[in-house]
Amino acid sequence: MDARPAAPATGRPPRIGLTGGVASGKTTVSLLFGALGVPVIDADQVARDVVAPGTRLLAQVFENFGPQLRRADGSLDRSALRRLVFTDTRTRRQLEALLHPAIRVRTELLAAKAGGQYQIHVIPLLVETHAGSQYERVLLVDCPESLQLARLLARDGGDAQQAQIMLASQASRETRLAAADDVIVNDGAPADLTPKVAALHQKYLALAAATGALGPPAHAHPGED
Ligand code: ADP
Repeated sequence: MDARPAAPATGRPPRIGLTGGVASGKTTVSLLFGALGVPVIDADQVARDVVAPGTRLLAQVFENFGPQLRRADGSLDRSALRRLVFTDTRTRRQLEALLHPAIRVRTELLAAKAGGQYQIHVIPLLVETHAGSQYERVLLVDCPESLQLARLLARDGGDAQQAQIMLASQASRETRLAAADDVIVNDGAPADLTPKVAALHQKYLALAAATGALGPPAHAHPGED
């Protein structure tokens, strides 16, 4: 797990790509890093920001993918969009081509503003999109599928069959483990996560010191403009 060579100095704080299956505990873990003062950038949030009501990009989404995606309040019906692209690869690629440049720009803007000694980037589909090489370390939040399923149902409701389909559409636990540099196993009480995060925090501070890419002090609220 420690086979990855030391990251080259990039002139920016090292980025830790935090990933894991749905309801594995990514948000829970990222909040613990946040509580230690580490800037956290959430890819899902960035993806929502770029198509916020009133943006030009949202208007383009409606133009290209249909006005039925527009909710009465003008916002994007994300579940309708997900259904539209779920089985249609061509449409999904078109949507990605439209959104990804804006997502990249906003991510870089937030990362530059956030500074910090290192940063946590929460990337739910990091393994599925083979994006590991963009991060100095890949941190996986891992838990047995049975727990993932139980937490997903407890958090979002819905039926067990739908939840199973959602899990099956994502990378397997083994594939994720193979892509990870560091692993937090989230199979105990939430309080068990605190020392695991504290230990990794020390490790990532050491990594940041070794790569010499110390940024400015962390912005208090990296998500704010
Ligand atoms: P993700 O961001 O990966 O989808 P979350 O952090 O939202 O996952 O966790 C999924 C759900 O499980 C949330 O309701 C969260 O509060 C709960 N949860 C996370 N870790 C634990 C744990 N160790 N024990 C019990 N519940 C947990």
